[in-house]
Amino acid sequence: MSDESLNFIEQIIEDDLAAGLSPDKLRFRFPPEPNGYLHIGHAASICLNFGLGLKYNAPVNLRFDDTNPTKEEQEYVDAIKRDIEWLGFKWASECYSSDYFQQLYDWAVELIKQGKAYVDGQSTDLIAEQKGTPTTPGTASPHRDQSVEENLDLFERMKNGEFAAGTYVLRAKIDMASPNMHMRDPLLYRIINKAHHRTGNEWCIYPMYDWAHGQSDFIEQVSHSLCTLEFKSHRELYDWFLDQITDKNDFRPKQREFARRNLSYTVMSKRKLLQLVQSGTVAGWDDPRMPTISGLRRRGYTPESIRKFSELSGISKRDSVTEVSLLEFCIREDLNKTATRVMGVLDPVKVVITNYPADKVEMLPMENNPEDPDSGEHDVPFSRELYIEREDFQEEADNKFFRLTLGKEVRLKSAYIIKGESVVKDDAGNIVEIHCTCDLDSRSGSGTEASTRKVKGTLHWVSIQHAVKAEVREYDRLFLDEAPDAHSDKNFMDLINPNSLNIIKEAYLEPFLKDAKADDKFQFQRVGYFTLDKDSTSDHLIFNKTVGLRDSWAK
Ligand code: ATP
Ligand code: MG
Ligand code: MG
Repeated sequence: MSDESLNFIEQIIEDDLAAGLSPDKLRFRFPPEPNGYLHIGHAASICLNFGLGLKYNAPVNLRFDDTNPTKEEQEYVDAIKRDIEWLGFKWASECYSSDYFQQLYDWAVELIKQGKAYVDGQSTDLIAEQKGTPTTPGTASPHRDQSVEENLDLFERMKNGEFAAGTYVLRAKIDMASPNMHMRDPLLYRIINKAHHRTGNEWCIYPMYDWAHGQSDFIEQVSHSLCTLEFKSHRELYDWFLDQITDKNDFRPKQREFARRNLSYTVMSKRKLLQLVQSGTVAGWDDPRMPTISGLRRRGYTPESIRKFSELSGISKRDSVTEVSLLEFCIREDLNKTATRVMGVLDPVKVVITNYPADKVEMLPMENNPEDPDSGEHDVPFSRELYIEREDFQEEADNKFFRLTLGKEVRLKSAYIIKGESVVKDDAGNIVEIHCTCDLDSRSGSGTEASTRKVKGTLHWVSIQHAVKAEVREYDRLFLDEAPDAHSDKNFMDLINPNSLNIIKEAYLEPFLKDAKADDKFQFQRVGYFTLDKDSTSDHLIFNKTVGLRDSWAK
């Protein structure tokens, strides 16, 4: 039976349940390798697996696939846990492939005893060469028919550290003529003389992915082991390995594959992201331009927006690229509902209201969020000298310019209607002050007729004597190219956008923002959405622009 509202993975599960699988057997896992930070692609897998856990009320394990100590670190383990929790998911058990090293070793010894694995002393290059091509059979290793005793002895000595890295490997003895290259006597173990972040120097042989992954699924009794499409051709090997360690009464996991999530204007592989970090192209894994979960968090993305993005981009059987504008749409939608409205001027020019008393200050109430009736108000100080955005004034303007110009009226948001009267310029001809008069009866909310008088434009502003100075960081795409790693003739590192970070040293914000806290989200009215950066201090406020109010990339 096929149900349109289910994704194809859910359909597989429904079919299994219909065929008699007991619902209490359902169990999932998210299996990151701790060799980098999680990115928005991982979020697809996290939302899929943990989403299935919620849907079927089934446990989901967090399994660290930590079988390669040359690339893995505790820092990454910690970051991965932090990011999954932040996304709002809870794992049933925290598991590590390294916890199964002894069991995996014991099973490997069993395979040798059954004549299904052998130690090969050839170089890995030579072994790869002997695999042949998909249309021609491979060449058997001269060690393929070594005796069980010799294999057991060599394997034990591998484990005891008697051999240098690269001298010996353990291989499964399957079929050197198989049309599936993964079945041509794949490697199970290699020697790596490096301390592991959890097992230290206990082991110097480490299992390969194919040998560790399915067996770990079996140990944890995962029902559906969901991985990305590139592992489809590994499925035969996944099943072959399980055949060797299970009997017909055992409950066996099954591997199913879905498409990787790709995002336009970025690279996603951890190896490439690490290159961006190590080369200093970005300030770290959590640089707000990175497609990492921690980068998006620092940029001001919310867990809700990332979960929504996952829902909208869906689970697919075929590889495709999702537009980054969809991600921006999701955060904009969320922040529109939740962000506190404030005023901040990023490129200030001074306005003097000549008919407003010099010593007067009024506290004007401003709605925190028109989308949320419960969000209340806060006060904004108004005085004779203000900043507005430089681009909101033109000395001479045509009828299509609805901002401030000489002789025309605009409203200052939640305040008064003002009219441009004259400008003061410096010697170079730059405008340094705009002199305006104000309709003193027009204050918003004052109940007068003039308070509701309609004028064409509304501008944001801050009172100069009350404003707080802040640094504002604006971000653009990190890459100039839509698919930076899809070119055979160009390296993604050569496609970096040189202007992806714009630092505004002196922005002026309403004083309410002095008390902003780490997770607070703001809409600087007419400008965009902003959040406090982790480098911000009370003496030096720093805000990150999360996203603009509109899709500025839309054609
Ligand atoms: P990378 O190349 O970024 O290192 P990976 O697949 O090697 O990716 P893992 O840490 O092994 O990274 O991934 C953990 C889980 O997340 C795996 O099940 C993997 O298939 C899934 N995953 C990784 N990248 C994506 C992606 N872009 N889209 C969907 N799922 C992904
Ligand atoms: Mg992997
Ligand atoms: Mg990887």
